[in-house]
Amino acid sequence: MSTVLPLTPSLGDLENADEFIARHVGIEPQDEARMLPAIGSATRAELIDGIVPPAIRRARPMRLPPAVTEAEALAELKAIAGKNKVAKSYIGQGYYGTHTPGVILRNVLENPAWYTAYTPYQAEISQGRMEALVNFQTMVCDLTGMAIANASMLDEATAAAEAMTLARRSVKSKSNVFLVSGDCHPQTIEVIKTRAAPLGIEVRVSTISETLPHLMASCEFFGVLAQYPATTGHVHDLRPLAGHAHQFDAAFCVAADLLALTMLTPPGEWDADIVCGTTQRFGMPMGNGGPHAAYLACRDDFKRSLPGRIVGVSVDAHGEPAYRLALQTREQHIRREKATSNICTAQVLPAVIASMYAVYHGPEGLKRIAQRVAALTAVLAQGLEQMGRELVNATAFDTLTVKTGEDTAKIVERAEAGGVNLGQRVQNHLGISLDETTTRADIETLWALFVPTGTPMPRFEELSARVTSRIPEDLRRTSAFLTHPVFNTHKSETAMLRYIRSLGDKDLALDRSMIPLGSCTMKLNATSEMIPITWPEFANIHPFAPASQRLGYDQLDKQLRAWLCEATGYAGISLQPNAGSQGEYAGLLAIKAFHEAKGQGHRNVCLIPFSAHGTNPASAHMVGMKVVVTACDAEGNVDIDDLKRACEAHSDKLAAVMITYPSTHGVFETRVKELCEIVHAHGGRVYVDGANMNALVGIAAPGEFGGDVSHLNLHKTFCIPHGGGGPGVGPVCVVEDLVPYLPGHATGGIAANGVGAVSAAPLGNAAVLPISWMYCRMMGAAGLKAATETAILSANYISARLKDHYPTLYSSPNGHVAHECILDLRPLKDASGVTAEDVAKRLIDYGFHAPTLSFPVPGTLMVEPTESEPLAELDRFIDAMIAIRGEIRRIEEGVWPKEDNPLKNAPHTAASLLGTEWTRPYSRELAAFPLATLKTAKYWPPIGRVDNVYGDRNLFCSCVPVAELAASAASAE
Ligand SMILES: *Cc1c(COP(=O)(O)O)cnc(C)c1O
Repeated sequence: MSTVLPLTPSLGDLENADEFIARHVGIEPQDEARMLPAIGSATRAELIDGIVPPAIRRARPMRLPPAVTEAEALAELKAIAGKNKVAKSYIGQGYYGTHTPGVILRNVLENPAWYTAYTPYQAEISQGRMEALVNFQTMVCDLTGMAIANASMLDEATAAAEAMTLARRSVKSKSNVFLVSGDCHPQTIEVIKTRAAPLGIEVRVSTISETLPHLMASCEFFGVLAQYPATTGHVHDLRPLAGHAHQFDAAFCVAADLLALTMLTPPGEWDADIVCGTTQRFGMPMGNGGPHAAYLACRDDFKRSLPGRIVGVSVDAHGEPAYRLALQTREQHIRREKATSNICTAQVLPAVIASMYAVYHGPEGLKRIAQRVAALTAVLAQGLEQMGRELVNATAFDTLTVKTGEDTAKIVERAEAGGVNLGQRVQNHLGISLDETTTRADIETLWALFVPTGTPMPRFEELSARVTSRIPEDLRRTSAFLTHPVFNTHKSETAMLRYIRSLGDKDLALDRSMIPLGSCTMKLNATSEMIPITWPEFANIHPFAPASQRLGYDQLDKQLRAWLCEATGYAGISLQPNAGSQGEYAGLLAIKAFHEAKGQGHRNVCLIPFSAHGTNPASAHMVGMKVVVTACDAEGNVDIDDLKRACEAHSDKLAAVMITYPSTHGVFETRVKELCEIVHAHGGRVYVDGANMNALVGIAAPGEFGGDVSHLNLHKTFCIPHGGGGPGVGPVCVVEDLVPYLPGHATGGIAANGVGAVSAAPLGNAAVLPISWMYCRMMGAAGLKAATETAILSANYISARLKDHYPTLYSSPNGHVAHECILDLRPLKDASGVTAEDVAKRLIDYGFHAPTLSFPVPGTLMVEPTESEPLAELDRFIDAMIAIRGEIRRIEEGVWPKEDNPLKNAPHTAASLLGTEWTRPYSRELAAFPLATLKTAKYWPPIGRVDNVYGDRNLFCSCVPVAELAASAASAE
């Protein structure tokens, strides 16, 4: 007889073993037993108690649903996604159907080599993505006919707003009036108005066909913006207007569709000054509004004030061409409140996809796509006219505005019932925008919607045989574009696949090594978090589709906001800002609107400590506040006495104080509550920059300890990958009395109370929100808290283990740091000549991405390991740092000269080591394999140290001409 055995392990235990938390957190319980003694703590709880000031600890745990497994979370999210209805969208207005080529979808968008990369500040390990971005810049310059373009903007509407301020900085006119054509996309006009108001810019809107030329003749202005083709579909001849603007020393700006520009005379050929727009239809799904890369291009004279990141071509230590970010890139950090823009995180991954789309299709392919869209539009138009429908626009590329009548509502109803979305225009007008995905059958479906009863349906074959073009004869493009070989060689999928792979292989991303970037939180971007973003139910939704089709997004938005409110202690959140900088901007607008509503509109002083991130003063400046910088004390804390003095000095004008918590110096300041109380006593509001939330989630909440507003960086704390420098999401979170001042979005149906739209789309970069949703859902409250505690543990472990080699600059009185530590390398310089930059470059030889270099303190490295790194990886990094310290000692001891040693010559390329000659005072083996483990796992940098000065003196931002590449290859032989 067999006995009945209890089930061991129990079913419950077996199910719990599948927890995602253990996949996300790299440190295991047995690791902690090794790490804690190094720090001198008995338990993790004791460590945390000694670091986080008791006064700010959360009163209660976060109320989040209990964690579920990856499979369960995916199933739950799939059900939510299912509430979105994918319709065929003809709404247009800046968002179009597109086919993402499979080879790009799988090998870029879904490939961690691309999406987990960091912003390319370390040029030597970022050549692949910078080549892709130079392709992007070249593509934009070629298609627009402009001299220079940056490497992406956040969306078309904010790019247009940046065009406005670029114009204002660059022209002679002293007017404060900016004219906008009424047939620009409505969301663009909204964002321009939001941005203009605090800067004292007056926006006047017209309709182009009638009143823009009149308006231009009737008043002074410093700039004009027109859409090309217009949102209604018209292809206006804007050429005379550009000349007219120049007569008044004003700038002519154009928001242009890149696909249309393959067929239309580009604005650069008729003397436009600034051109902007979106690249969405170059392979990025609509995703309910984002993320997509926008672009901004300008004439050569404006290039030194062009905002955003620009990839330039320079040379490396061996004289080879090398890409690197041009001077402007660090603009907010260098110029702060004098910066021209606050943009930091942009849209690199979508920009890479758009550039790859151009590489894949080439000029001929793009032209074919455009010609087909234009031809289908012409057939559609002819058919509509044949059935007696009146078209508002006689000229068109892809969009028609149809005058309808009594039957408007009926047509819309019929369309929606058939899964078709039409553009809603002014009363009794409907819009139809075609795109790459439109088929012949679609044209017939559209005709059927519009055909009056009793009228015969047009016949496609018949019409298409005798259709005439709707593109004006004199606006046809005659110039060539994308002539560089990169756009003309990777036609087969085999070639394309290898090109993408070859670029990815040049770079170091999280799929190869830890990226210990202080303030940037490069943690795991789990595959399960990434999978949902390309589900059609999320990807193929137009942001202005009827609300009834976006119920899944609605639920995602509501749940995620509720969870983030729990995590931050705030009362209300908007997910509209599409980067941290935009969250700052929206948060400061809320504060401004609040003061105005209370009759305190004169409050315009914003106090910002010296150590703040550059976006803080830049954002304050953009909302028209006056920045007053306050001091930090010797321990790196905000100098409370100085802040108090400043509050008193500016008491009746104090609008806000912006702090970062834990501070950018990596410490939990114990007096933060007191600081908030002082600010409140003077009638100011406290802005807590939430970029360091990875040290707080589950432990302390800014909304509880005195903050009034924060932004989060979901691309730091909440697992959205950096994508090589975007996309991001920068939710703005506020306390109760500021909730009414969260951004609105009239075009998207969100009512505003004083603060209008800050992004083109109502839900910003909506399509990447599933990533943060999945993270919260799979971690639960306990998991998120464990992540925070582990992040702090790991930072303290690194700081403790390196303290005899590189002292940590700032710590709390007990010697502990928060979730990051600043290693002070300044003392090394006198004895050895070695700088923090040399160490950063030498780390590449060891296979590491450098920590944050010289921010917030010049001459230091800021290390943030995050909770996701396994102990073995932390130790590998520590070993590398200690070995490098040993190398520095040999310079100090005079073994190697100060100017010729492995640090100064780092990073070492294979080519530089394998030549016939070797004259360095150290061996090639030491150069390449300073640790034995590197012999079997080596990252080879493709270039040597980049010469930044050369690049800044010779600003060159397009694909390198082949002749030069050939010359440099010859010289290398
Ligand atoms: C990253 C960061 C920002 C800016 O966020 P973006 O998303 O890059 O615009 C602001 N403040 C701090 C402290 C940051 O680390």
